[in-house]
Amino acid sequence: MKYFQQDIECASREKIEAIQNEKIVKQVKHAYDNIPYYRSLMDQKGVKPEDIKGIKDIYKLPFLSKYDLREQYPDGLLAVDKKDVVRIHSTSGTTGKRVIAYYTENDLDLWADCTARAIVAAGGSKEDVVQIAYGYGLFTGGMGLHDGARKVGCMTLPMSSGNTERQIQFMHDLKSTILCCTPSYAAYLGEALKESGLTTKDINLKAGIFGAEPWTESMRKDIEKSLGIKAYDIFGLTELSGPGVSYECEEQAGMHINEDHFYAEIINPETGEVLGDGEKGELVLTSLDKEAFPLIRYRTRDICILNKEKCKCGRSFIRMAKPMGRSDDMLIIRGVNVFPSQIETVLLEQGYTPNYLIEIDRVNNTDTFDIYVELTSEQFSDTIKDVSLKEKELSNALKTMLGINPKTHLVAPKTIARSEGKAVRVNDKRKLID
Ligand code: ADP
Ligand code: ZN
Repeated sequence: MKYFQQDIECASREKIEAIQNEKIVKQVKHAYDNIPYYRSLMDQKGVKPEDIKGIKDIYKLPFLSKYDLREQYPDGLLAVDKKDVVRIHSTSGTTGKRVIAYYTENDLDLWADCTARAIVAAGGSKEDVVQIAYGYGLFTGGMGLHDGARKVGCMTLPMSSGNTERQIQFMHDLKSTILCCTPSYAAYLGEALKESGLTTKDINLKAGIFGAEPWTESMRKDIEKSLGIKAYDIFGLTELSGPGVSYECEEQAGMHINEDHFYAEIINPETGEVLGDGEKGELVLTSLDKEAFPLIRYRTRDICILNKEKCKCGRSFIRMAKPMGRSDDMLIIRGVNVFPSQIETVLLEQGYTPNYLIEIDRVNNTDTFDIYVELTSEQFSDTIKDVSLKEKELSNALKTMLGINPKTHLVAPKTIARSEGKAVRVNDKRKLID
């Protein structure tokens, strides 16, 4: 099995556009008729559902943002009767108040198709044993991949995150073939495998489906090596259902957007202007067939690029590049824009692990910028004499990438807390307000 739903995943452009044209008309009408808040936004913009005749008219519609979702907390954007809702999920609240997303039975079914497509694209079939180490519960990762694995017919291990020793034990004893978790937890499991005295030859893993947070190509290589697998990226957000908005194929060259369910645009985050093919900007997503929680032109704040070129895998869905961090992940340190992903790239290039912590503070009106980087036990024993030299080298490499000079501290193995879910890598102690 190479595709889960070949007829749509490999459909012609004309067919995909026809589906989108038909669905957008209905989706907009559904939102307008059932969400008073959205109706008022459309009314303010002077646009009526009849003005939307196909996807080309989407530009006429207002944007929605996290602000609107928070404003309408908890259920102001719910578009169906509560009795038709069968589940909720909630964002992890990385950047503020949680958002609640609602699902009907049909919404869950379509979402499971999306994650099933991702599992099959990563080489999954009925024969596979899928170990799900994303958190179960309000977070969408666990149940999202779970429902997809079930659709594919895989033997599914609902591990949830944490209890690392048990993860390794089950991985070994039940011969898991596909691991699903955050990339930071995958990296941790790679370390834990080694510490348990096992090698990649002692386990059966062949693939991993990792997402829910940004990760770099070098981190991918590290994880692939430490777990002996091919590592696939998956993208999504709770507001739009969860993981599976887009997924990577064997080409590992961008994530295919499930265009029969989501329409993607890239805009200039400052002006809202829609950008052309291949331009970098903020990803805006529209759900095309959601019942409980339709979201039209939702500003994700994820910065990325769309690629319309045909992919060698045979899928016709357009691809999105790995998001390069969110516009609100960006740190401004001494006036310079810094993305944690840039720091991670340098660390991995220089042979360090992705176990690091960025600490920013403000002392006498100047930002301090410290990066704590953990050494492996091997590095620790050979570095002990020339730590300050190594720190200097690393600071220089970081300065070249970032344009400002951090103070780096190489610290002993196992001194930086590991994450079982999304990694927490920034401690911003500046009190800029109040
Ligand atoms: P929260 O906004 O509270 O973190 P979610 O768990 O819904 O809630 O997170 C969705 C966000 O996670 C996305 O908007 C994106 O920033 C990030 N994300 C998800 N998957 C990926 C991925 N594969 N690569 C990079 N970032 C990702
Ligand atoms: Zn492909």
